[in-house]
Amino acid sequence: MTDYRTLRVALLGAGAVGSQVADLLLKHGDELADRAGATLELSGIAVRNLDGKRDVDLPRELFTTDAETLIVGSDIVIELMGGIEPARTQVLQAINSGADVVTANKALLATHGTEIFDAADQVGAQVYYEAAAAGAIPIIRPLRDSLAGDRVVRIMGIVNGTTNYILDRMDTEGADFADVLAQAQDLGYAEADPTADVEGYDAAQKAAILASLAFHTTVPLEAVHREGITSVDAAMIESARHAGYVIKLLAVCERLSAADGEEGESISVRVYPALVDRAHPLASVHGANNAVFVQAEAAGDLMFYGAGAGGVQTASAVLGDVVSAARRHIAGGVGVGESTRANLPTVPIGRVITRYQITLEVDDKPGVLATVAGILSDGRVSIATVEQTVIEPTADATGASARLVIGTHTAREQDLSETVERLAASGVVERVVSVLRVEGN
Ligand code: NAP
Repeated sequence: MTDYRTLRVALLGAGAVGSQVADLLLKHGDELADRAGATLELSGIAVRNLDGKRDVDLPRELFTTDAETLIVGSDIVIELMGGIEPARTQVLQAINSGADVVTANKALLATHGTEIFDAADQVGAQVYYEAAAAGAIPIIRPLRDSLAGDRVVRIMGIVNGTTNYILDRMDTEGADFADVLAQAQDLGYAEADPTADVEGYDAAQKAAILASLAFHTTVPLEAVHREGITSVDAAMIESARHAGYVIKLLAVCERLSAADGEEGESISVRVYPALVDRAHPLASVHGANNAVFVQAEAAGDLMFYGAGAGGVQTASAVLGDVVSAARRHIAGGVGVGESTRANLPTVPIGRVITRYQITLEVDDKPGVLATVAGILSDGRVSIATVEQTVIEPTADATGASARLVIGTHTAREQDLSETVERLAASGVVERVVSVLRVEGN
């Protein structure tokens, strides 16, 4: 066996991901050493509860509740505790004591990324986070390294498995949101408190990370426009299906060319449920899977697909980072900082230009369609398609109603939302049923 230098690896956290990382490090130590060019010695595992139940059997003597002491003298620190504190303090401690850091903590990076990357820059350390966006799918390295010579134009990502699972079952079974959510919670696909997933917070954190890398710009979480899927109901799913679309919660990161009278490019980063053409590759991402569709100027369209979560799947991405960190330690030299020099401004949602599908319930009488068309035209929203269906009257109905589904050409969000307000107040529209963006060409 080759006589390699030994690197001390400290693991913080032994939950769903951490326990699998520890297991693979111990099981495949020799192979990993050959790939890394160093023996990776798991020096300890910090947890809260020494007697906690673990997903895999791990040597008890490795466990400690004293993370601070474990970090001292480590070459690589793997942070898999999650949350902001004490993860933030311990990651900074690791960096300042000369270790490279591997983390899967999107919440930490999306909120304190600048502080952490700056600290790493100052001491020449490196922070690796392949598992922080889209779990097992290699997307950080492709954006950071493989596409570093290209210009990314747009990213459309299904980056939250829970919401994709819910929307996919609503689409395939015609089920209601609340029923599917309850089943997803029973099956362990959704947390007891599903807010972070269904309200789009988790996807927004990942969008901030992906956009920062893709556009070489620091994108704070506050700059990400976020809408969740709680307003998506079975009728919207059915109407989308009828029009040839599927509804997906998308993280869209887009490079925008200079608007009239303005200088330079800007970016838009947004998370919302959107209509995706059934022929688009993202439409075929089923269940809890994730996919990231990247459009780059020279490379064209690329799609990265796979498991966005899961303990052992995510451990694969974490260990890839550990091998990279080990190679860097052996090769020496300072770490390569995040490139944020482009520093592009993030525009508010009102500046976004996309297509829309507007569903209205209107009075079913002559002239209504012309009134609606006039309001859209006055608002600079151009109609691409219209479909009208008569709504069967209920016993207590006062007059006949119809449902109008209007597909628009591209329009500016600000114009669109003002126009929808005018439609709602026009006297001919009984109800604005839904307004959904259409994404993907
Ligand atoms: P988890 O199952 O909740 O495990 C967290 C671990 O951290 C536990 O072992 C816990 O110790 C330990 N821990 C928490 N707070 C601690 C503290 N103050 N001091 C010491 N140890 C502490 O979490 P996970 O699902 O493995 O996720 C870990 C990270 O990976 C998170 O940032 C998450 O966002 C990210 N991630 C997870 C997945 C996934 O599929 N699970 C996918 C992608 C990314 P005890 O066991 O003693 O309580």
